Amino acid sequence: MRKKTQLIHGGIFGDEATGAVSVPIYQVSTYKQDGPGDHRGFEYSRTGNPTRHALEELIKDLEEGKRGFAFGSGMAAMTAVMMLLSSGDHVLMTDDVYGGSFRVMTKVLNRFGIEASFVNTSDVDSIQNEIRDNTKALFIETPTNPLLKITDLEAVAKIAKANSILTIVDNTFSTPYWQNPLTLGADIVLHSATKYLGGHSDVVAGLVVVNDEKIGNDLHFIQNSTGGVLGPQDSWLLMRGIKTLGIRMEEHEKNTSRIVEYLSGHAGVSKIYYPGLESHPNHEIAKKQSRGFGGMVSFDVGSAEKAAAVLNKVKFFTLAESLGAVESLISVPALMTHASIPAARRAELGITDGLIRISVGLEDAEDLLEDLEQALRG
Ligand SMILES: *Cc1c(COP(=O)(O)O)cnc(C)c1O
Repeated sequence: MRKKTQLIHGGIFGDEATGAVSVPIYQVSTYKQDGPGDHRGFEYSRTGNPTRHALEELIKDLEEGKRGFAFGSGMAAMTAVMMLLSSGDHVLMTDDVYGGSFRVMTKVLNRFGIEASFVNTSDVDSIQNEIRDNTKALFIETPTNPLLKITDLEAVAKIAKANSILTIVDNTFSTPYWQNPLTLGADIVLHSATKYLGGHSDVVAGLVVVNDEKIGNDLHFIQNSTGGVLGPQDSWLLMRGIKTLGIRMEEHEKNTSRIVEYLSGHAGVSKIYYPGLESHPNHEIAKKQSRGFGGMVSFDVGSAEKAAAVLNKVKFFTLAESLGAVESLISVPALMTHASIPAARRAELGITDGLIRISVGLEDAEDLLEDLEQALRG
């Protein structure tokens, strides 16, 4: 099955009992048993719910794994994955991971003895040196936010395997439509489904897929024990969003390449970060491991004042955090998502005050281009 077909026919299609072509929303907490302990696959909705199960089967198919899991947010998904580890374990992570991932590792899980350190995983050679005796997992985000850095997943998974450590990939930016980390050697892939998978800025959710039965059983045990599950309504909304993921991602990409081309020729833009650009340092790796470059682009307009002026003038780009939805969003990472990172560290990473990040939506590209043009006129 090709990806666009899989988005619609993957997982569980419709409802056997009635012929409904959409999986029903099973708004239910418990299930009648035919005898004590004799149930029909569902006993209590924290353990399993038919609507959530359909979503979990769908994401499992889309990521080409063995088991799928749905959580109440991307961070709940990540926390559950980290609970596969134990006190005394160490995780080596991409240095510019999502801020919430950095926060949960350094402010919450550290208190339970799970240690994290950070390395530029785009530089594969630097990883080996950072592996410790107690390193149990490599956590990779690619592409990253807001600088769209790329990590070579195949190379990294090879290093992890050689050291008997797990490779975990945050695949939020690429989505399973463009990139499938499990097929490149990763063990666990996770998503903030709040972004492209949902796609309409109306649901917060997290998804995980694993490619090993034992890890699958362990993660189900954690999901059921800690209980951060996704409800049936939101599971249904996600499935509805996922059906159009293919056409959305194709359009996001088309609009983005038009905008990147426009920005590349603009005198007021000093730097553009987009993996689809041949000048991107990891363009070849991006091309090798993903089928598309996505709809996120960052560019530098030189100063905080200029960035603020652009943000004030745009009409079709909504000033907001988050990404991956039908409406275009714009942000200044230094003042918003990355404000908690000290200025010196931000400068080191390249997150300057004039850096603008856009999540290109599905509006008509001509309107987006005209809008940027008037906003950049200064
Ligand atoms: C948003 C995001 C998360 C966190 O997901 P939530 O659904 O907001 O909890 C994790 N990773 C990346 C890359 C994200 O963009």
